[in-house]
Amino acid sequence: MPQPTPEQLRAALATLADPASGRDLVSAGRIDSLQVKDGLVQVALRVRREEAAAMEPVRRQAEALLAGQDGVRNATVILTAHRDTPAQTPPQGHARGHAHGHAHGDPRQQPKLLTAVGAVIAVASGKGGVGKSTVATNLAVALAGRGLAVGLLDADIYGPSLPHMLGVTRRPEVRDDKMLPIKVWGLAAMSIGFITDPDTAMIWRGPMVMGALQQLMEQVAWGKLDVMVIDLPPGTGDAQLTLAQRVSLAGAVIVSTPQDVALADARRGVKMFETVGVKILGLVENMSFFCCPECGHRTEIFGHGGARAEAARLGVPFLGEIPLLAGVRESSDSGTPIVISAPENPAAAAFQALAASVQKAIGR
Ligand code: ADP
Repeated sequence: MPQPTPEQLRAALATLADPASGRDLVSAGRIDSLQVKDGLVQVALRVRREEAAAMEPVRRQAEALLAGQDGVRNATVILTAHRDTPAQTPPQGHARGHAHGHAHGDPRQQPKLLTAVGAVIAVASGKGGVGKSTVATNLAVALAGRGLAVGLLDADIYGPSLPHMLGVTRRPEVRDDKMLPIKVWGLAAMSIGFITDPDTAMIWRGPMVMGALQQLMEQVAWGKLDVMVIDLPPGTGDAQLTLAQRVSLAGAVIVSTPQDVALADARRGVKMFETVGVKILGLVENMSFFCCPECGHRTEIFGHGGARAEAARLGVPFLGEIPLLAGVRESSDSGTPIVISAPENPAAAAFQALAASVQKAIGR
């Protein structure tokens, strides 16, 4: 059965009413984007943030309608909020959640997310490229290997890396209005990259990102999980702060490379979590030293031990060192985390040791 064209899908959406304007969804300008590929439909509906609750039934209706069209295998409809509509412009100082008198917009006042999960761990880094996603992925897989039911959530909406690292190309199925996480390498995983083309996510703006992230937490049938590992976006901006406030985190693991610049960023990460009362499970030094695969000789390319010293200075635990090894990158690129592809590799052993420390720290 051929898949419908975008025009046909728009025509279907034009049969649904927009509650705010009384017009139909299409002429009301609600369709922010619409894509159809291999029978999978993705639609973003444009809403103002305060309309989100009222638009949720419409979102579900649209999803059901699209999913019922001939030639559609699966449909995902998300709500997106734009910063450029006047109601979206946060008042000065509000974006960081410190505004006064706006309780409904203050993330600390909103209901917590992921309350059914035993322990939610954030994996964070002060800056990109230090191997945060690699650590999050291998930590999650190693925890699952220790008998825990583990979820892995890619909170990096702008630059999702889990599809690549986990080798996932299939789309999540939808059942009873919820997306099913992808079962891979013993984990339940979810990433915006499983749903949308990463290039689409790149053009999203702040509030849309939070909306999408919230949907990845709430509209996914995560099932019963002992642990959820969240791969946070790099940095210490609003998304990280809001997440730290909306989820009751069991703790944060901060990933750094040994160089001073990276450590300065890691320090900011530690401070951010401490400010919002999140326990620091510890610092991990990634790309700590280079182990020659031929002779096993250790070379400390970036200097070494910086994170251990920094952890001591900050009074937080040091969780270990992950060597810089080509195998780590190769296995990420091939879509199989190294703890599975090469368990005998020293980096895999380091990730196993990290998982053991984290499991102990969260008392699971
Ligand atoms: P981040 O999430 O901090 O941006 P990634 O986890 O995406 O970083 O890692 C950046 C790149 O570095 C990836 O290509 C990854 O495979 C590689 N990498 C990460 N850790 C190591 C390591 N210990 N040894 C070798 N390559 C690594």
